Amino acid sequence: MADTYKDLMGLLDEQEKWRASCLNMIASENVTSGSVRKAMCSDFGHRYAEGLLGGQVNGLQLFERFYQGTRVFDRVEAIAMKLSEEIFSAEHANIVPISGAVANLVAYKGLAKYGDKVSGLSIPAGGHISHTKVSSAGVMGLNEVAYPFDNEEMNIDVDAAKAMLLKERPRIMIFGASLFLFPHPLKELRETADEIGAVVMYDAAHVLGLIAGGKFQKPFQEGADVMTASTHKTFPGPQGGVIMCRNEYNKKIDNAAFPGLMSNHHLHHVAGYAIACTEMKEYGEKYASQTVKNAKALASALYEQGFKVLCEKKGFTESHQVVVDVSDIGGGRKIAESFEEANIIINKNLLPWDPLDRTSNPSGIRIGVQEMTHVGMREPQMKEIALLMKRLAYDGEKPEKIRDEVGNIRKNYVKVQYCFD
Ligand SMILES: *Cc1c(COP(=O)(O)O)cnc(C)c1O
Repeated sequence: MADTYKDLMGLLDEQEKWRASCLNMIASENVTSGSVRKAMCSDFGHRYAEGLLGGQVNGLQLFERFYQGTRVFDRVEAIAMKLSEEIFSAEHANIVPISGAVANLVAYKGLAKYGDKVSGLSIPAGGHISHTKVSSAGVMGLNEVAYPFDNEEMNIDVDAAKAMLLKERPRIMIFGASLFLFPHPLKELRETADEIGAVVMYDAAHVLGLIAGGKFQKPFQEGADVMTASTHKTFPGPQGGVIMCRNEYNKKIDNAAFPGLMSNHHLHHVAGYAIACTEMKEYGEKYASQTVKNAKALASALYEQGFKVLCEKKGFTESHQVVVDVSDIGGGRKIAESFEEANIIINKNLLPWDPLDRTSNPSGIRIGVQEMTHVGMREPQMKEIALLMKRLAYDGEKPEKIRDEVGNIRKNYVKVQYCFD
């Protein structure tokens, strides 16, 4: 086993070295500060803190734990909850879900019954699998109905959606997506939710960090009852999940999380998330605003280089994502693979007009700028990146040659910014 052990330790090093020399532009990933990484390797990762929350004293949560030894962690979790509530204007936060998909499952279990419907976007239009029968929604026996989508606006068609909602009467109306360029019409559809007695759920998996910095929509102010999220996409925390809600729903959500679905809630993730919350409170506005600026800069530079970037008329994007139709230059798979050879890491992506069976070679690519923003890149680097992408996709230059230039850009941006390290 000693050899296999050595191999594995070598692979850890190889991954660190490789991805530190890449332009990491997967829209759902990020890198964390040294302090968050410290939390992830800390003793909290060895422990349990099963239990429901007790009452509050001096604004801090008390806990009813089942095991001993949680004295220190209780303080950490209380801070995580309090900061979440402040940052996101939530009445209640629960950090128990261990991923975004599990947070969605908690919402479904707490708020719907088997056989109910949920409304969301279809997968090609940007909906996440956890909004559908093949994943978390299916576990709870829920059936999905899709909002009509306006391909030009890359958004939900509000009037058509109203008509659909009045007819289908879903129990939970889901907003938020994985292909997510513009804020969703929460405000516009809140009244319809009241009319049909639906709960409004906002899935902020992708945009939690932008919301934290005040640079995307404000779900609770716009009418959301529940917000679920991953804690590691634009929000620069450890991989994990979180769910927040109005007080009206807090018992149902807490019970669905524990004992409903979770036993251990990955305490190291809660600690890392709390630290990331302090970073976002202090630096979140700057980070989020630079992220959106970088996405716009990359999009317009790509557009100038001849790429078919979506939504030119709308300024391309209001999020961390840039979406490009590459169907006439070989399709998403070929482009994503050739970029990877040059150490530019992105993903192929269905576009709203693609049939589901094109998943292995869809029309689009999705690029996220949040991670490279987090290590300090700004508009000039976005322009350089766009040019490298054009030389790969349009000029047929060899990936090996581009890879050296990628390394040269990247070597000046290795340390996480927007943190206390
Ligand atoms: C990524 C994503 C999720 C799932 O989050 P995980 O943390 O990967 O489980 C849920 N919803 C949306 C919209 C997502 O993009």
